[in-house]
Amino acid sequence: MKKILIVGAGFSGAVIARSLAEVGHKVTVIDSRDHVAGNCHTYRDEKTDIMVHKYGPHIFHTDNETVWEYINRFGEMMPYVNRVKAVTGNRVYSLPINLHTINQFFSETLSPNDAKAFIEAQSDKSIDEPQTFEEQALRFVGKPLYEAFFKYYTIKQWGTEPSNLPASILKRLPLRFNYDDNYFNHKYQGMPRNGYTSIVENILNHHNIELKLETEYFEEMRSDFEYMVWSGPLDAYFNHRLGRLGYRTLDFVPFYGEGDIQGNAVINYCDEQVPYTRITEHKHFAPWEDHSKSICYKEYSRACDKNDIPYYPIRLMNDKKLLGQYIDMAQRCNGVTFVGRLGTYRYLDMDVTIKEALETADALLHSFENSKKPKAFYQTVI
Ligand code: FAD
Ligand code: UDP
Repeated sequence: MKKILIVGAGFSGAVIARSLAEVGHKVTVIDSRDHVAGNCHTYRDEKTDIMVHKYGPHIFHTDNETVWEYINRFGEMMPYVNRVKAVTGNRVYSLPINLHTINQFFSETLSPNDAKAFIEAQSDKSIDEPQTFEEQALRFVGKPLYEAFFKYYTIKQWGTEPSNLPASILKRLPLRFNYDDNYFNHKYQGMPRNGYTSIVENILNHHNIELKLETEYFEEMRSDFEYMVWSGPLDAYFNHRLGRLGYRTLDFVPFYGEGDIQGNAVINYCDEQVPYTRITEHKHFAPWEDHSKSICYKEYSRACDKNDIPYYPIRLMNDKKLLGQYIDMAQRCNGVTFVGRLGTYRYLDMDVTIKEALETADALLHSFENSKKPKAFYQTVI
């Protein structure tokens, strides 16, 4: 049995730690923060007793049965459907764009088929295979909706023109010609009754796991362990030797009120002149609870500086080139596997993070049993 060090107590680190611990390996998990669950961390606000999503709104959604069973093993998931509203031009609409959005926006009463034809007529058919965010939007939703809902929100969120961003970012959002306003298409969706932190604590609660919080990784630690799993930033592992991979960071500005402040968990602000991207009212994530007061977070996005928390990997051309170089360096390392959102520099949802962590743990166990060198990355990440 091996002594293994895992850097990061988010979903990546915790899930891998649990799988390795369950077969008898001795695992130490460290995290520089004073809590587990990484960016999914939730805490009860002292003034209101409301469960707050400290690093931004997190809604669990997946099509993967194994992942859904896994999360339910460690905490009770309550039924929750994410329904987002968006403000543009001083009016409130439903998101993702659906028949209600289209009919309200254009003051129409179109049927699904009529709406499809109506939007198709506005789309830019000269774009065959959209590569960029802007091309994807102009091809599939047309200019008026693009400019109202996506253009300026995206500039605020990503700090660059949508023509510089990949089409994949917009493809995260459905476009519907019916009145379904569920933000996600997945089969399973929910919110943990006791928050994400409680789930990650339960995952880490095993006699073969030692957890050390407020513990930053330093190189000398390595000698006490036979293997390491790294879920911190890929470039940080190499002390940013080749330069920094680009990230966006977020600032959350809390404010309090009585009763119901905005009537919904998340409202997006799509206009250029509004400096924030969205406001989250946390109590609406737990409709089964009763609170007389309320807390909201205003969310601002900006370039990530040295001492900021990295949130969204930007993955522009320059980043991808640098990423390729760091991946080459990582492939040549011995005794370490890179995982997760930061370790592989990708935009990963929680369900994909858990799926990959389970697969990585299996692959590691297989390599240990067969005395093979484990892969630095479980899959190609560019
Ligand atoms: P992290 O959660 O980032 O954990 C990495 C951990 O490593 C951190 O705790 C960090 O402190 C620690 N660490 C880093 N470097 C060191 C070091 N040198 N020494 C010690 N510790 C270190 N996903 C969804 O499915 N649904 C959502 O609604 C959703 N909303 C999101 C909203 C926002 C604003 C963001 C940014 C992400 C959202 N996600 C959502 C994605 C979700 O946050 C990630 O999938 C998840 O956090 C990835 O887990 P991880 O363990 O890979 O990384
Ligand atoms: N987006 C937008 N307007 C909105 C919501 C989303 O322009 O009102 C764009 C934005 O670029 C965002 C992307 O669509 O990054 C994907 O949206 P999603 O809600 O998946 O973003 P998340 O905050 O979950 O990363």
